[in-house]
Amino acid sequence: MTIGDPDVVVIGAGPNGLVAAAHLARAGLRVLVLESKDTIGGACASRALTRPGFVHDVGAGFFPFAAVSPALSPLSLHRHGLSLAHAPIDSAHPALDGTCGVLARDHARAFALAGDDAAVWRPIVEWMAERAHAILPALLGPIDDVRAKLGLDLGSIAALTEAGLSSARQLSARFRAEASRRVIPALGLHADVAPDDRCGGAVGLMLAALAATAGFPVAVGGAQAIPDALARALAASSGQLRTSARVSKIIVRRGRAVAVALDSGEELPARVAVVADTGAPALYLRMLPDGCVPSRLIRRMRRYPYGWGTFKVDWALSGPVPFVSAPCRDAAVVHAGESVDDLARFAREVRAGLIPNNPYLVLGQASVADPSRAPAGCHTLYAYTHAPSEVDGGWSTARERFADAIERRIEGLAPGFRALVLARAIHDPAELERFDENLVGGDLGGGTAAITNQLVFRPAFPWFRHATPVAGLYLCSAYTHPGTGVAGACGWNAARALLDREAR
Ligand SMILES: Cc1cc2nc3c(=O)[nH]c(=O)nc-3n(C[C@H](O)[C@H](O)[C@H](O)COP(=O)(O)OP(=O)(O)OC[C@H]3O[C@@H](n4cnc5c(N)ncnc54)[C@H](O)[C@@H]3O)c2cc1C
Repeated sequence: MTIGDPDVVVIGAGPNGLVAAAHLARAGLRVLVLESKDTIGGACASRALTRPGFVHDVGAGFFPFAAVSPALSPLSLHRHGLSLAHAPIDSAHPALDGTCGVLARDHARAFALAGDDAAVWRPIVEWMAERAHAILPALLGPIDDVRAKLGLDLGSIAALTEAGLSSARQLSARFRAEASRRVIPALGLHADVAPDDRCGGAVGLMLAALAATAGFPVAVGGAQAIPDALARALAASSGQLRTSARVSKIIVRRGRAVAVALDSGEELPARVAVVADTGAPALYLRMLPDGCVPSRLIRRMRRYPYGWGTFKVDWALSGPVPFVSAPCRDAAVVHAGESVDDLARFAREVRAGLIPNNPYLVLGQASVADPSRAPAGCHTLYAYTHAPSEVDGGWSTARERFADAIERRIEGLAPGFRALVLARAIHDPAELERFDENLVGGDLGGGTAAITNQLVFRPAFPWFRHATPVAGLYLCSAYTHPGTGVAGACGWNAARALLDREAR
């Protein structure tokens, strides 16, 4: 049964769409979510990609924000079936020389492994542990939420400003050992932030601080458990969800969004507002009638700064990955990158449009934390790296070779790995976009994470407050502040903007 006349139509059931919907339904609005695919979750989903009995996270796999995000906490997802599991080590950073940088919620173990650099890590970790309640709302909330910023002490504001102005390499220079130095730049490369990028240090630093406090937990049973729990939270407030319902147009009358039209031609009214968990260019260039938004916004959307492509491989393994470096065997996420220079070389190759040689890797070992992902004794592994969205000759000819190069890099760190492979599944950048149309060219970030596309520039100045130039139309996807990641913050911010404006 579908709500007859919803107050709010949310387009897209990714994490942000579902979070926006759940908060709006909790506020008493009648909410209907329309999702184009036949399943929910967007880039936070799991599938049996390889063999029966193996569950793989197609996109997001590790959720530092899940237990601590102010956008998710009020939704009590644990009461709606979500449980998180931690590996003993959260983030490991091995090299071929046997050294390994380590971040873990088990501080005693991590600091013991860090040697002299424990003295540098300790204040960073303690800072986050003591002030997360103030730092997270300030970073994740609306940019102009001055009250949240005032919750920060002067020292934290100074530290965040320094990090925001530094490159990852500059932040890393304070460590003695290369094993520690490569940690922050490697975490920055989860997004398209290279070690020497101006103002690029903050992304890696925040992920490092989170890894050592909230950790990098997985969702028990698969990442799909997160959107599934969000859908149950939505249903508990009488919100509704319809899949296989792609919205092609937003209907605007007298400057106000009043309804949406599906690909099928069916029209659905929205009494109060429409909220889009879509790409910003998709919304402004394809879904609105001509003349609704200023031409400078259209120009910005035509040259919207997307991040790099993402290339991902999932494996079903007959045993655990035999990493030489012991902490890696216990780690949720392992990063392959020998040194800051090696990471910078990788970033230069991607920026030059080349398929990277010996690519940097984010290796996700979900089954180390959650054995339910694979049959007894077996394991799953995922690797993602960045690559150009398009390559000469197309990805269809390059994908197997590139997956082989990825396997070679893992084999170097874990001799015997390839002998464990039962099956592998590849997602090149174009396939990721087919899986979720918000991942344009395989960009997992909703646009570049460069400073020129952050804060008031995201997705375009002055439309950074989740409202759009069309009355009653809000954008809630990762294309808005604070950007990518399953924190629900973009959805929460959009819901708050809507409640603030439409309730006036
Ligand atoms: C390989 C990969 C690894 C990642 N790893 C992590 C990680 O470990 N941790 C983390 O926190 N984040 C990670 N991320 C990022 C995270 O998945 C995203 O930031 C997050 O999913 C964004 O949520 P969203 O709701 O904004 O958009 P999406 O998840 O992209 O969802 C958008 C939804 O809207 C639907 N939609 C779009 N247009 C329409 C339309 N016109 N009509 C109807 N429906 C529509 C789509 O089908 C989709 O379901 C990763 C992403 C990828 C791709």
